[in-house]
Amino acid sequence: MLILAGIAIIVVAVAGYRLLFAPFRAKDSQEAMETAEEDWEGAPPLDVQLLTVNEYSRPGIAMEKINGIVIHYTANPGSSAQANRNYFEGLKDEHTTKASSHFVIGMEGEIIQCIPSGEIAYASNDRNNDTLSIECCHPDESGKFTDATYRSLVDLTAWLCGRFEIPADQVIRHYDVTGKVCPKYFVEHEEAWQQFKEEVAAVVREGKEG
Ligand SMILES: [Zn+2]
Repeated sequence: MLILAGIAIIVVAVAGYRLLFAPFRAKDSQEAMETAEEDWEGAPPLDVQLLTVNEYSRPGIAMEKINGIVIHYTANPGSSAQANRNYFEGLKDEHTTKASSHFVIGMEGEIIQCIPSGEIAYASNDRNNDTLSIECCHPDESGKFTDATYRSLVDLTAWLCGRFEIPADQVIRHYDVTGKVCPKYFVEHEEAWQQFKEEVAAVVREGKEG
């Protein structure tokens, strides 16, 4: 009798434990999955290398609403997308500054995603809390992007506009936020910036029609 009662107690305890704690564990892993695997259907190829959550480059703060996209250049001629991503990751150990970007586009047109679109990055000062950021590599001091970088930038920006219902006129330069000369070529060549915005708008329209 005592043995049976003992077994019954154990069964009840195990079932109770499962009922109490299993739902929480399931929810945690579900959330982690949602963060890593976003709905990127139709997006240009993305190399997802999310940063470790840390206060210097990925604070893990939820973005309430995405109102715009901010374009940047690395200001580091010849550096690769991978090197820039690794620099952001390294800030968790170096503690020298706070910086990051949702996306980095390399000179071959490769796109590395560093921060989930549902979280803020440290890229655009007062607009960190409501914009996505795209950092672009460039071969020289002029800040002009390679054709491959430019193509990926148009495609990614247009895709994000469609995905998050961002109007094309809410695609802005870092310069438009703070007056900083970033992205340099698009600040010094206003006509190239307008051309870029027109191309983005055209791809967005194509996406809607197609
Ligand atoms: Zn910038």
